[in-house]
Amino acid sequence: MLKGRCNCEAVNFTITSNLTDVIVCHCSICRRATGSNGIAILIVDNDSFEWTGGEKLITSWKKPDSHWQMWFCSRCGSPVPGINDESRMFVPAGLVDDDSVSLHVAHHIWVGSKAEWDEIGDDGRQHLEAFEG
Ligand SMILES: [Zn+2]
Ligand SMILES: [Zn+2]
Repeated sequence: MLKGRCNCEAVNFTITSNLTDVIVCHCSICRRATGSNGIAILIVDNDSFEWTGGEKLITSWKKPDSHWQMWFCSRCGSPVPGINDESRMFVPAGLVDDDSVSLHVAHHIWVGSKAEWDEIGDDGRQHLEAFEG
């Protein structure tokens, strides 16, 4: 089981499935959302995800005329889990606080639009745009 929380520790969740794959999105929207080179996420089945606190503090912003949406803690600003699609959540990987688990970067997406200064140094598969999986 994985546990995660935001910086102010108000928003908490657990993941009950055994995940290994981290996906890093390098697109310009994720870069602005985090102020960094993108965002590392886990994709989790709804059945394996449970909020354990702070859900009421979550607010979100949806980019107009797109499907892109980001959820964050209204108190501390940490990105928090949100809806990936009908059956799955996306979870920012940096929120997971158990470092004994064997998470590793499996995929990089939107590599075709990454920042010039962003150098990928691991062996995750690189996709120029999105991938299905
Ligand atoms: Zn918070
Ligand atoms: Zn992105």
